[in-house]
Amino acid sequence: MIQAKAYAAQTPETDLAPWGFERREVGPHDVQIEILFCGVCHSDLHQIKNDWFPGIFPMVPGHEIVGKIVKVGDHVKKFKVDELAGVGCMVDSCQVCENCKDGLEQYCLEGSTQTYNSNDRSGVPTYGGYSNTIVVREEFVLHVSDKLPLAATAPLLCAGITTYSPLRHWKVGKGHKLAVLGLGGLGHMGVKFGAAFGAEVTVLSTSPSKEVEAKALGAHHFVVTSDPEHVKAVSGSFDFILDTVSAEHDMNLYLSLLRTNGTLIGVGVPSQPYSIQPFSLLAGRKSMAGSGIGGIPETQEMLDFCAEHNIVSDIELIDIKDITASYERMLKGDVRYRFVIDMATL
Ligand SMILES: [Zn+2]
Ligand SMILES: [Zn+2]
Repeated sequence: MIQAKAYAAQTPETDLAPWGFERREVGPHDVQIEILFCGVCHSDLHQIKNDWFPGIFPMVPGHEIVGKIVKVGDHVKKFKVDELAGVGCMVDSCQVCENCKDGLEQYCLEGSTQTYNSNDRSGVPTYGGYSNTIVVREEFVLHVSDKLPLAATAPLLCAGITTYSPLRHWKVGKGHKLAVLGLGGLGHMGVKFGAAFGAEVTVLSTSPSKEVEAKALGAHHFVVTSDPEHVKAVSGSFDFILDTVSAEHDMNLYLSLLRTNGTLIGVGVPSQPYSIQPFSLLAGRKSMAGSGIGGIPETQEMLDFCAEHNIVSDIELIDIKDITASYERMLKGDVRYRFVIDMATL
């Protein structure tokens, strides 16, 4: 077994703290990565606090992992020692169901194995990226370009693919008016991708102070959603709304901003069900949809697109000992736009 170091939550009530544990030996189809940086996703906090479902403890969060390959199994074909690599939200799936065969492993009909807070297919708990090393089967490892700043690449593995995938699926691009609701870790990537795909991008936000930042990220317009005049001016105007908000919000208001045949795509995870008036959808044949991360082929496509177009996340690099303080800032929305842990500080 491989001795690994990490920051773990021992229970939902305790803060993250140093913890030693074992990773499996590198099997014939496995890749071992020395983790250099790991992004901090809001879902890390949700999971260590048991907000969604009872978690597996001790828990090592982290699913925006980048680092350097230090060992590969005898049958590994796509990766070599010393190359850069990434791991996102999944580390395994059945590989044979129709969704897996279509490269939609995130929707594996048997359920994909999450990078942490999950049991692998032999029943062993998985531990995530707030750690010095990880062992992952080759099919779930991504190539990472050395052209991009590595720390700022980490958030592409969750925040990046979560926004890239729906924009590609709905073919958002030239001639479309796209609104991005919420300007956080997900939203700021939605703005960058929307603009890169050629859409006319509007940020919808409750904070007027974010207008300058939104435009610097590539947004063409900015709407303060707490200002009724602002909102009225864009009523019925958007082809798509990418809704990245995980707090409760008035879905009927946002559906009213879609034009006929428009689609609102939810990628955030509010803890309460949405409340939607039937007329909000049927008056104007509007759609409401959801999308979860992206499959492995599309995640690689996204990373390659980012390398080609020089797209990364805007980040604040932190020491791992500051993780609890960073969660508190994240809860207040006080981060531009993603914390990334420098794993050399572990
Ligand atoms: Zn995430
Ligand atoms: Zn499957």
